Amino acid sequence: MSPDILIHDATVLTVNEHNQLYRNGTVVIDSGMIRDVRPSESDDADATAETVIDGSDSLVMPGLINAHAHLELTALIGAFSEMGVGELVTEMTALCEQLGRGQYEYLVKAGCELAALNFIRSGITTTNAMDALPSHGAEAFGEAGLRGFFGPWISDLFWDLPEDEQFERARSFIEQYHDSYDGRVQATVCPHDDWSCSRDVWERTAELAAEYPDLPVHTHLLELDASNTMARANDADDSLALLDEVGLLDERLVAAHFRVADEEDIERMAAHGASVAHCPSVFCYWEPDGETEWTPVPALREAETTVGLGLDDHYWHDSSDLLSEARQARLAANLSFGTNQFHSMELVRMLTIEGARALGVGDELGSIEPGKRADLVILDLSDPKFAPQTNIPALVANTATADDVASTIVDGEVLMHDNEVRSMNPDPVCERATAAIERFSDEIGWEIDISGSHPPSHLRTARDLPKRGPAHLVARLGLQHLRDRF
Ligand SMILES: [Zn+2]
Repeated sequence: MSPDILIHDATVLTVNEHNQLYRNGTVVIDSGMIRDVRPSESDDADATAETVIDGSDSLVMPGLINAHAHLELTALIGAFSEMGVGELVTEMTALCEQLGRGQYEYLVKAGCELAALNFIRSGITTTNAMDALPSHGAEAFGEAGLRGFFGPWISDLFWDLPEDEQFERARSFIEQYHDSYDGRVQATVCPHDDWSCSRDVWERTAELAAEYPDLPVHTHLLELDASNTMARANDADDSLALLDEVGLLDERLVAAHFRVADEEDIERMAAHGASVAHCPSVFCYWEPDGETEWTPVPALREAETTVGLGLDDHYWHDSSDLLSEARQARLAANLSFGTNQFHSMELVRMLTIEGARALGVGDELGSIEPGKRADLVILDLSDPKFAPQTNIPALVANTATADDVASTIVDGEVLMHDNEVRSMNPDPVCERATAAIERFSDEIGWEIDISGSHPPSHLRTARDLPKRGPAHLVARLGLQHLRDRF
């Protein structure tokens, strides 16, 4: 029996436990699995396989894992680029409230399709996304042949949606979408964060997570100074103590950011086997406070905590280039902690196998090894910027960008080959995104055109903002500040 796909004479970066590299390697794929990885043989070019790919001047590496993302406002790329953090948070809060009420679904649908298209082109094969309306992401990514983890975020102090309704939505999402699209779409439990959830939400989330023990628990943790303040308002010593008390601090936890963490937080994360999704671009772009400490990724890795990389709200910093997050992670860490924080191979591992481990699928994804699912990407190394092709890990971490991804394979299906996307039709996706933005622009009075972005009037935004949740949030944080002082 001939295999489905054979890639020969390629540079292969396996990201196995020895970080094995082949200068002239062959990867054999059949029935969605990687069957063999070995040095190329002289007759590989003439092998019989459904698809034979000449890997000369190419690099084969595991598909990239976007460990933390939001998808639904992808069509708004360029709309937030010039905003300060205050305006950004206000506009996002108003928009999320309206999304929760079922507004702008056309924008969400078009945005998720656009994200799927751009992620295929960027070599992102698995995405871990948390959204107000996650079914659109699950369907767009499932239809496009991609792999992903999806869940509706739950919060009682960020917006006004009734708590019972949110848990009902979360349960029905899991029932409908978990393990769908041949297992490529998985559900997650998503308490939004530690600064806008009451203890009641955490406890109910823990109950939901206990009902579905196979699902990862995905949240934002220690993102802001307000994180630990809210934990104290929730009668816990700090954020990690609160999660531990409700039973959510364990190996199922994937925590985005972990930015305002101290040494004890790092030790506790490691001791409980929880993982971190580090998203450097978002905070490099929108640092709310220049004095705030930076995610201690080197210390987390030293403590053997799994750290993946994520794009987070890629439509805030206008990039779906996950490869470039490796370089961004390196530069930001160097600025904060001194140079030489990471070997390039560590960054490659964070883009791939560590992201897979964070999501509990390190045995199935994240490296090119026989027996793993066939999720991989092929980078075109013929561009002179890669010559003379020395130090491949450094070329991936420092030089390569999304534009160098030529082919993307998920579950043994070729979603893009030689820069031609096969599982989606790009033109209509872009046309629908353009039409959605025009409609949104008209409906809300947010001018988004070739010259830039002019958000709606303050009056309009104020009308759309949630009232009850954020009022409680501000009151609880204010009261806790007073308690802390006296
Ligand atoms: Zn996020």
